[in-house]
Amino acid sequence: MDAKKVILIIDDDPLMLGVLAKILSPYYSVKAASSGEAGLRIAEKYNIDLILLDVVMKDISGYEVLAKLKENSQTKDIPVIFITGRNATGDEVNALESGAVDYIRKPFVPEVVILRTRIHMQLITQTRIIERISLTDGLTGVSNRRCFDQQLEQEWNRASRNHSSLGLFMLDIDYFKKLNDTYGHAHGDLALKSIADVIVQTVKRGTDFVYRWGGEEFAVILPETPIKGALLVAEKVRLNIEGSVLKIDNKEIKMTASIGVGATVPEHGSYPHKAEAFCERIDKALYQAKTNGRNRIELAD
Ligand code: GH3
Ligand code: MG
Ligand code: MG
Repeated sequence: MDAKKVILIIDDDPLMLGVLAKILSPYYSVKAASSGEAGLRIAEKYNIDLILLDVVMKDISGYEVLAKLKENSQTKDIPVIFITGRNATGDEVNALESGAVDYIRKPFVPEVVILRTRIHMQLITQTRIIERISLTDGLTGVSNRRCFDQQLEQEWNRASRNHSSLGLFMLDIDYFKKLNDTYGHAHGDLALKSIADVIVQTVKRGTDFVYRWGGEEFAVILPETPIKGALLVAEKVRLNIEGSVLKIDNKEIKMTASIGVGATVPEHGSYPHKAEAFCERIDKALYQAKTNGRNRIELAD
């Protein structure tokens, strides 16, 4: 069974907090905060799926809490349902305008609370499925180019904050057209899958960092990796591809790949221009590996 989704209730009225927690705890893992500040801390610390947020609170208002949630990259996407006061029609308009996904009016009917939260949890699940599909390459199962662009930005900015080295290599299968021409496209597709598997198995940090960059080209992002480490991983990938055998129609097929590799400590605020230039240099190195004889690695300058 799936793990229970996590709901955070933020309300400075202990009675209200207790009632809401009691209503929702049969369905979700419930976290409770009795002030806006406490709620913000919990939202940042845990993986929260949905927030129920009181509008009127003593320390900071629900609107301020929502604004702060939106400012933080870790919490900005958590959907928030406001719990609005009794006769406050204006509150409901403000709630929806300020970025809440819904509101529940006090005094509330427990069934309504349960049903409204269920609808939003279902939306969250569906959104995540769509997100995953939109970032995955259908053929190989690794992340796609869109995901690469997103994660490169994230990792670039993270590395510039931490002054750490970001490694990257790009890989292009050698003479792949010939394989397609000889064995047909369907077998070419199988070959692409098997290459993706080899790369994923070699890059131990998980599939998140392996991308299908284009047709028969892959990219690997290596956070916190200086050039020496990036070269090492690239060389392992190259060797494992060279050493793997694909069986098609009882024939054993061997493939090789050419790789361009680089690493950099990004400067603050240098995304996207320097990142694009970095990718171009690595692409150039890959091209160099092709002209220098293939099945080899070249370093970006
Ligand atoms: P090189 O050693 O210079 O890289 O030669 P190459 O033949 O691998 O390179 P080229 O870029 O000329 O051709 C890439 C080929 O990859 C073109 C196409 O037939 C094949 N290809 C690209 N995407 C796919 C795909 O999704 N499935 C299959 N089966 N083949 C693909
Ligand atoms: Mg190519
Ligand atoms: Mg190729």
